[in-house]
Amino acid sequence: MEIDLSRPILARNEGLARKNRERLAAAGVFAVDILASPGAGKTTTILATIERLRDRYRIAVIEGDIASRVDAEKVASHGIPAVQINTGGACHLEADMVGRALDALPLDGLDLVIIENVGNLVCPTEFDLGQDARVVILSVPEGHDKPLKYPAIFALADAVVLNKYDTLPVFDFDEGEFRESVARLNGAAPIFPVSATKGDGVADWVEWLAGRIEAARTTT
Ligand code: MG
Ligand code: ZN
Repeated sequence: MEIDLSRPILARNEGLARKNRERLAAAGVFAVDILASPGAGKTTTILATIERLRDRYRIAVIEGDIASRVDAEKVASHGIPAVQINTGGACHLEADMVGRALDALPLDGLDLVIIENVGNLVCPTEFDLGQDARVVILSVPEGHDKPLKYPAIFALADAVVLNKYDTLPVFDFDEGEFRESVARLNGAAPIFPVSATKGDGVADWVEWLAGRIEAARTTT
């Protein structure tokens, strides 16, 4: 006999994610969950996004990391409220962690919460956080075969950011093959080539996000 211990954990998480979603909607806050491997450029992309949107929206960031407050401090140094969640070893965020981070934020004074998930392309897919959109960042040096190896995360993405796009000439990255693999898993997600450190392509990605925020406002 085999007992699946993941079921009650996931069922509990679903309930807490629903609560987060209701809370965010009631406060008129859009939440985006950013998913990627360590080193793909999540924090850098988030900072570039904030620079482009901070005059339009009141933004806060929830930083998920196994340890340290390095990323939250980086975000806070730009004058943006940031809550650090240290998962104490867990390799993904769960809805109850995000709920506690929301307790620490002035939700009524915010329009957008950006959640930086723990660097991992596997288990964050299982844990709904109550977000409105999920965005996967893949960086060029990681290789074009990642959608084949981690199909679940690319299948659920609302958008894909292809970061470090400026390094394309020096890596053996087949962009056509990458786009085909993503399209096979997910016909709906747009792909945005971005160089977060240089700023190239950031505008297109940010306009997509702003479009999602505005669409959520008109339906609530
Ligand atoms: Mg980071
Ligand atoms: Zn995990």
